[in-house]
Amino acid sequence: MNNSARKVVVIGGGPAGLTAGLYVKRAGIDALLLERELPGGQAVFSPLIENFPGFPDGIEGAELMTRIKKQAERFGLEIRTFAAVVRIEGKDRMRKIVLEGDEVGAIAVIVATGRSPRKLGIPGEDEFKGRGISYCATCDAPLFSGKEVLVVGGGDAALEEALHLSRFVRRVILVHRRDELRASSYLEGKARAEPKIEFVLNTELREIKGDQTVRSVVLENNKTGEVSEIEVSGVFFYVGNAPNTDFLKGLADLDDAGYILTDSSLQSSVRGIFAAGDVRANSFKQVILACAEGALAANSAMRYLEEVGEKKAYGSPRA
Ligand code: NAP
Repeated sequence: MNNSARKVVVIGGGPAGLTAGLYVKRAGIDALLLERELPGGQAVFSPLIENFPGFPDGIEGAELMTRIKKQAERFGLEIRTFAAVVRIEGKDRMRKIVLEGDEVGAIAVIVATGRSPRKLGIPGEDEFKGRGISYCATCDAPLFSGKEVLVVGGGDAALEEALHLSRFVRRVILVHRRDELRASSYLEGKARAEPKIEFVLNTELREIKGDQTVRSVVLENNKTGEVSEIEVSGVFFYVGNAPNTDFLKGLADLDDAGYILTDSSLQSSVRGIFAAGDVRANSFKQVILACAEGALAANSAMRYLEEVGEKKAYGSPRA
């Protein structure tokens, strides 16, 4: 049992969490970042981030996150990996962050735990996970070189990943439940111009079949009711995400979908607990905004330290 107590604990090592940690440590304040897996967050799976200022040719998500992590570590941010938070206890000045097999004390907490891919709950989805089913084209596309794959979803992630897959596979069949895509017109334009991507609209994935690996999928046209089975070697899911906030249930106020509600300083309904990035209700779900929210939450946490009688926030920037 490690009963260490910190001034600021950041939970989550994506762009929001790493930026928050960078700001706090650069201001000379003791901070620890807890990450349930490895740092980087969902952004590491983005093959190319084209809208993060400073990179006119775009930058791979993994490369951008490596740089942000390195920058945070330059200011001495301590990152503890494979540290999954189970719950936060205590309503007074010192909170207890309970981990699996450990606990950490914290005066201010910044929650930047992001989101995880949503599942469809259809037959075959669990059975073939890792055996033809993937949630990450960036990681797995080369495994499907020269093959035919299905992408499910009509948002930015589905189109971005379909474009990435098209560099490796023979054909991408993109299935979307409506006749109109949700993705930006920029990404739609790029995907429509890619001859390897075929759009199958008004259609839902009903089942994934196979033996050792995925062999085929059952699709249903939700306008005509027509059911078809087509052969594919892989299925990539991009049907949205759910926030990682289970450990906050019953403590902080969440919206109906489970995202953390905050005020304009990014403080949650619990004083001293802040939220930043994709896990926050109404956040813009972009890396640039996650970084910005990380910076703002760090600044608010440092002000909170002053308010509760901790030493002046060591040159923390005033908004
Ligand atoms: P999203 O925008 O929520 O899109 C999810 C897609 O999955 C939608 O097309 C949705 O269909 C479909 N879907 C949801 N539930 C479904 C179900 N039960 N059955 C079938 N289809 C279902 O999620 P996302 O694409 O992961 O993007 C999340 C956020 O990150 C967005 O704000 C996005 O703009 C951002 N993002 C941005 C970039 C970029 O700027 N390059 C890249 C990736 C993500 P409907 O459209 O019918 O609801």
